[in-house]
Amino acid sequence: MNPTGLLEVTAVRQVTPRTVRVTFTGDGLGELEPWPDQQLKLLFPPAGRPVRLPSADDDVMRWYQAYLAIPEDERPVMRSYTVRSRDPGRAAIDVDFVLHAGPAGPATAWARTATPGDVLGRYGPDAAYRRPLSTADTLLCAGDETALPAIATILSEVDNAVVFIEVADAAEEQPLPGEVHWLHRDGAEHGAKLLAAVRDAKLPDGSVAAWLAGEAGMVRSLRRHLVADRGIGKSAIEFTGYWRRSLTQDDAPTSEDLADAAEKLGA
Ligand SMILES: Cc1cc2nc3c(=O)[nH]c(=O)nc-3n(C[C@H](O)[C@H](O)[C@H](O)COP(=O)(O)OP(=O)(O)OC[C@H]3O[C@@H](n4cnc5c(N)ncnc54)[C@H](O)[C@@H]3O)c2cc1C
Repeated sequence: MNPTGLLEVTAVRQVTPRTVRVTFTGDGLGELEPWPDQQLKLLFPPAGRPVRLPSADDDVMRWYQAYLAIPEDERPVMRSYTVRSRDPGRAAIDVDFVLHAGPAGPATAWARTATPGDVLGRYGPDAAYRRPLSTADTLLCAGDETALPAIATILSEVDNAVVFIEVADAAEEQPLPGEVHWLHRDGAEHGAKLLAAVRDAKLPDGSVAAWLAGEAGMVRSLRRHLVADRGIGKSAIEFTGYWRRSLTQDDAPTSEDLADAAEKLGA
């Protein structure tokens, strides 16, 4: 499948008060291989302009260099999202956008007013980033609402998951299969209830692997707990900081982000 292309909005649906589901069609989506936790980069054009894409290139670094070479006032803003579901027959995918509180970034601002006919760019999903799911006896999945789409796709593939998801309040729950523990923030500090619930969890006997995503500091705390207090091997923990408090996805990595990246590379 061509790693880059245009996406056209065909439907917009409010799934919960803070989640908008956008259906896109686009060239190549009918050939998209199925795998869980499928990530893609969405490219949002500057207001009032068509989206300008770098030329197609299978090499991600060359593609990114071409992206950076687009003049700043025409260069689309890039944000990471997850394929919530796919409909190969219609060459369509659904993406769930969390309308987060606080200052809306470009992706959230776009999702608030998304309308059929709107066009974005995409890079991915790229099978090169596909990760095998763990074969441990239990898969512990934990994350906030931004991780819900990925967790939903993981749950469609495994039946040994124990899941903890923290959302703003009860209205943000979505139907998911299996053992899901919902934590409602209800105004508490982001991640505090999730961390407490995972700390208190009695996990089944046998080997445990983990999949963690959401706000970067929360993910870091969860991972530290699993490694230090539960003795889960670092290599058994898939983790991704999806967003950072008070920093956009364009801001430079902090020293903690760089340390996380080094851990991921096994440095
Ligand atoms: C691999 C991957 C997959 C992802 N999948 C999804 C997905 O399917 N659905 C989804 O909604 N998000 C997903 N995210 C998270 C999403 O990319 C970020 O939330 C992103 O920052 C939103 O872009 P923005 O333009 O709205 O905000 P930005 O311009 O990046 O940030 C603006 C401000 O908003 C704050 N902010 C950003 N996100 C949040 C949030 N969720 N809650 C509270 N404050 C926030 C920032 O701290 C900053 O102060 C994913 C991220 C990654 C890395």
